[in-house]
Amino acid sequence: MKILVAVKRVVDYNVKVRVNLEGTAVETNNVKMSMNPFDEIAVEEGVRLKESGKCDELVAVSIGTSSSQETIRTALAMGADRGILVETDDPIEPLGVAKLLKVICSREKPDIVIVGKQAIDDDANQTGQMLAALLDWPQGTFASRINIENTKAQVTREVDVGLETIEINLPAVISTDLRLNEPRYASLPNIMKAKKKPIDIIPITELNIDIAPRVKVIKVSEPPKREAGVIVENVKELLEKLRNEAKVIS
Ligand code: AMP
Repeated sequence: MKILVAVKRVVDYNVKVRVNLEGTAVETNNVKMSMNPFDEIAVEEGVRLKESGKCDELVAVSIGTSSSQETIRTALAMGADRGILVETDDPIEPLGVAKLLKVICSREKPDIVIVGKQAIDDDANQTGQMLAALLDWPQGTFASRINIENTKAQVTREVDVGLETIEINLPAVISTDLRLNEPRYASLPNIMKAKKKPIDIIPITELNIDIAPRVKVIKVSEPPKREAGVIVENVKELLEKLRNEAKVIS
């Protein structure tokens, strides 16, 4: 069984994001970048399936600038076998990413594609669903448990009413939720070993896919600054302020 995991390089989740001077996007210059947290969970799940003997080859794919090789190396250090970078300097929307992943799927013929449920930079939550639609494959989104048996996958999903378990035929696309697993830290020996694992770099133009943006960003702005709070002496004073200053109760 071959598994493909999609890994995106995003602003590290510990960084307080700032809007760029032009007000068009989040500032990424001189900012710590890391693998999207949901993709770490996707890689971890792939590695666990390898360790259980259910997966023979785990391939990490990223679409982005040359620096995304670092993200792929992290996946390789966690246990992926090889990497593919579709190299581009332009930001690519989820539809474009899904189209590019489809081409990689037609080349690689994986049994499962595992993606994160969302990239924490644009919070789109679209790529996995679009990829499944383009491939006409079943999808199991927001997985909190995955069980692979022969040509089927049982995916437990976190839904509003609790947990839902579905069974889908492979090949399929699965997206990871937060509680699926706890990703491992790569050990130093594995980081060293990962340097020797191959990364295939494909210039985006070679794939001849229409990735023209469909969405125009009009403006990106920071949320209004929170005003300083006050400490009240007692409940009576709190009620008085809620009633007469904030005017949120009558
Ligand atoms: P999104 O639909 O943008 O919220 O992203 C959902 C998931 O799709 C991410 O967690 C990744 O697994 C995958 N993905 C999105 N963009 C990229 C990219 N540029 N390179 C690799 N994977 C990506």
